[in-house]
Amino acid sequence: MALTFEQARQTVLSEVTPLGSAEQVAPLAAAGRVLAEAIPADRDYPPFARSARDGYAIRAADVPGELEIIGEIRAGEIFSRAIGPGQAAEIMTGAPLPPGADAVVMIEHTTREGNRVRIGRALRSGENFNPRGIEAGQGTTLLDPGRRLTPAEIGLLAMTGRERVLVYRQPRVAIVPTGDELVEAGQTPRDFEIRNSNAWSIAAQAVRAGAIPEILPIARDNYGDTRQRIERGFEADLLLLSGGVSAGKYDIVERVLADLGAVFFFDRVLIQPGQPVVFGKAREKFFFGLPGNPISTLITFELFARAAIDRLSGAPHSPLPLLRAKLACDFRHKPGLTRFLPARLSDDGSAIAPEKWHGSGDLAAVARANAFLVADADRESWRAGEDIRVMLK
Ligand code: AMP
Ligand code: MG
Repeated sequence: MALTFEQARQTVLSEVTPLGSAEQVAPLAAAGRVLAEAIPADRDYPPFARSARDGYAIRAADVPGELEIIGEIRAGEIFSRAIGPGQAAEIMTGAPLPPGADAVVMIEHTTREGNRVRIGRALRSGENFNPRGIEAGQGTTLLDPGRRLTPAEIGLLAMTGRERVLVYRQPRVAIVPTGDELVEAGQTPRDFEIRNSNAWSIAAQAVRAGAIPEILPIARDNYGDTRQRIERGFEADLLLLSGGVSAGKYDIVERVLADLGAVFFFDRVLIQPGQPVVFGKAREKFFFGLPGNPISTLITFELFARAAIDRLSGAPHSPLPLLRAKLACDFRHKPGLTRFLPARLSDDGSAIAPEKWHGSGDLAAVARANAFLVADADRESWRAGEDIRVMLK
């Protein structure tokens, strides 16, 4: 049964469950990892009524008008006096609002003469400061478990004074390249051989997805060797195979997996490149057979294996980085499959142009590109200027 890529992704997301175990790490080491505890606010945020502007703390009812300046409040200082009727205090961004004041007027909207300030406009009570606790009250949950920690959340850990944080263990991903034509990247291939590039691009993708990759030796296209490597691969949390899942005489990966008792959730998805991608489970571990053409491998990892890594890591999922842009030229393809083609997205993200390429083995073209154009399966042609989907690289 062939699935659309959305259906296949849903299958992955619903089958794979979190590994569960967690460890304490320092906040910076937690960047990119998945939170395994709730983070409460240790105090009110902001902890005091905080001026959002440089200007004057005033009583809104007094303006427009001319006020007496009774002092200055810097960030990091506390002002003990109250602002009475007809009075103002000069205040800096980040300083606590003094008692009596209920608004801050921006310095740009004032004229000062000696110890008097003239304010020509009306203000609403509450303007230009953040009341205590408005962002979060003490004890309320700032972050829930299951969140992948980006720089904003790392800043929040520091804000709340956390020196250690509980994150889920990173999944270990075994990578098994297959193919008689392959030599290791450090070796010199003979004329009819190629270097094993997929293991390295997959490993880089695994790192980016928050997993720990382990590249295993190349499995040759015979039953014994492939079976031995696959069995070793099942020692990891997730097994990613490259190659050997097409219809060729020596594509034996699926046969080996079946003999190991595998359940196959899908073995074909309506995409190109990457149509023969395989997803299943054997020996309590999930595996993917990623088609060996380097672009097929890249695309199928991004669409499916990354979702599995998210789930194993304890995160619900990371949405695909899909957006829309206007085609820079007319475009057509043969409908039936969703196609992912290397493309160049303009700097402002508004325009997309296909990159010249020579099929799903053309790693150089994808390296030149900065995105993939996503051609929907149910549509044949687009005119220049029409919207089309784009997946970031
Ligand atoms: P396969 O999926 O095994 O039929 O391989 C499809 C194409 O991808 C063939 O041209 C292979 O030579 C190539 N290929 C397979 N594995 C790799 C690899 N690890 N690195 C680079 N290219 C590969
Ligand atoms: Mg092969």
